[in-house]
Amino acid sequence: MILIDGKKTSAEVKAEIKKDVEDFVGQGGKTPHLAAILVGNDGASETYVASKVRSCNEVGFNSTLERMPSETSEEELLLKINEFNNNDDIDGFIVQLPLPKHIDEQKVTTAILPKKDVDGFHPVNVGRMALGQPSYISATPYGIVQMLEKYNIDTTGKHCVVIGRSNIVGSPMSILMAKNTKHANCTVTLTHSRTKNLEAYTKTADIVIVALGKPAFLTGDMIKEGATVIDVGITRVPDDSKKSGFRIQGDADFNSCAEKASYITPVPGGVGLMTVASLMKNTLAAAKKEIYS
Ligand code: NAD
Repeated sequence: MILIDGKKTSAEVKAEIKKDVEDFVGQGGKTPHLAAILVGNDGASETYVASKVRSCNEVGFNSTLERMPSETSEEELLLKINEFNNNDDIDGFIVQLPLPKHIDEQKVTTAILPKKDVDGFHPVNVGRMALGQPSYISATPYGIVQMLEKYNIDTTGKHCVVIGRSNIVGSPMSILMAKNTKHANCTVTLTHSRTKNLEAYTKTADIVIVALGKPAFLTGDMIKEGATVIDVGITRVPDDSKKSGFRIQGDADFNSCAEKASYITPVPGGVGLMTVASLMKNTLAAAKKEIYS
């Protein structure tokens, strides 16, 4: 079994970005600037945003963190988005999800200009991605594709089962894995909460990408010998032995899956770190106007 090391892979990607930023700025380009809007004070969201700001510092970007209280109205948030859309110094920005229940996420996602939507959630970017046109690819699926590439995992003609059909992970992931590109070209099965007899699919999968948010859901007896397991899940599970009172658990039962898998990503230390690195990649592309002029 080979551990797909997200720490090492994301460090490599970030080092490449840092070098690229130095070259770009050295040639007179502007320092890339990523902004994040955080509404409320959800613990997990705080952690993710802090990690994004830290990564900006590591790769030489400017960053802005705009905190808004949980009572912020949808209108106030849309005004802030409009302000960032019109701020020429900000190359790309994200609105950290989830949002408080009184705010319509779809409306918010659509309000971000596609050229600044470095999370790749806007319908224009999702549509372009689906058609194989230049776009910002949603950071988690993009990070996973890069992991498969870095570990040279053979994907062509393989059966890839994606568990979960969310707009930000499962659905775009299934589209990317089916594309006629080097580290894709899979036959893809997209499974979800209504899938009957899920094991019948996972047991025949060469690659299982599990993203449903149920800790230790995928167990070793559900996969075939030699499968690649990509674990997207991040759930805080109560754990009295930890100072924080919780530990982070993935959607795969690591020990039983690792016994049979040829490759597996750990949680933490896997997909999550590559998600942040991919967001940096999208922001650099935004500053260099590689996707939209
Ligand atoms: P979501 O809640 O939006 O969607 C969950 C999906 O799982 C749904 O499509 C649902 O149909 C499916 N599902 C639920 N029960 C199922 C079952 N029994 N069998 C098959 N499918 C089932 O989730 P999401 O936003 O895609 O997030 C999934 C997990 O990934 C969460 O733990 C989240 O925290 C994590 N996540 C991690 C990263 C990262 O960077 N590593 C990024 C985004 C999300």
